[in-house]
Amino acid sequence: MFIVLLGSSGVGKGTQAEKISNQLHIPHISTGEMFRQAIRTGRGIGREVRPYIKEGKLVPDPVVTRMLFKRILEKDCLSGCILDGYPRTVRQANSLDLIMQGLDWQLGIVLHIVVPDEEIIARTSGRRECSTCHAIYHLVSKPPRDPGHCDICGGGLFQRLDDREEVVRKRMEVYWEQTQPLVDYYHIKNLYCKINGSQPIWDVFVEIMNAIDRRKMQEIPQ
Ligand code: AMP
Repeated sequence: MFIVLLGSSGVGKGTQAEKISNQLHIPHISTGEMFRQAIRTGRGIGREVRPYIKEGKLVPDPVVTRMLFKRILEKDCLSGCILDGYPRTVRQANSLDLIMQGLDWQLGIVLHIVVPDEEIIARTSGRRECSTCHAIYHLVSKPPRDPGHCDICGGGLFQRLDDREEVVRKRMEVYWEQTQPLVDYYHIKNLYCKINGSQPIWDVFVEIMNAIDRRKMQEIPQ
C-alpha cells in the first residue's frame, strides 16, 4: 500500500511512519531525513538545501521531487511505501499523481496527523537528537538518563537546526499556506483521513492502523 502522511513538523509523523513501516513491512521515506542526511555527510544536494531547512522554508519543488522519484523507483518500494513529508504542496501532489499513474500504482490512503500549534511548539523545542546514532529524545517526555548524552551510544545530544522556536513558527506558517490546501485536494479524491495526534503514541498508531484496515476492506471487491 502507498501511504502519504501529512501534518506539520512535530506532529509525530516520523514516529508513526516507523511503526507503520514495521507493521506493514514497507519502507519509510522521509524527505526531511534525506535532506538532513545529505547535510550531515556534506554530499550531493546537502549544500544546496541547507539554507532552506535552516530557515524553515520549503526546498524548491523540482529539487525535492527529483530526489523523491529517484528513491521510490528503487526495488523496495514495489509493493508500497510510506511517504513522510511529501507531498507538501499541490504542485508536488500533482507530480506524485503523474508518477503513480505512469507506474500504474495507486495511492491507498492519506493520513493527516493533526496537533494544535502550541502543542507542536512545546514538542519540538524540547526535542534533542544524538549526534552519533541519531536517536531522538525529549527533555520532558523522553529525557536521556545522563543529561546531554545518548542512552544508547553515549553520543552528545544536539537540537536540530530547524527545531529552534523561531524556525518552528516559520515552518508552521509555511505549512498553513502551502500544505493545508492538500486537505481539500485529497478529500476530493476520497483518500483523506484525519488522525488525532494529541493522543499517546500507541493510541495514535491504533487509530492509524484502524484507518488503514478500513481502507483495505474498501479495496476488496464485494
Ligand atoms: P521534515 O523533517 O519533514 O519536517 O522536513 C524538514 C525540512 O526539510 C522542511 O522544513 C523543509 O525545509 C524540507 N522539506 C522536507 N520535505 C519537503 C518537501 N516535500 N518539499 C519541500 N521541502 C521539504
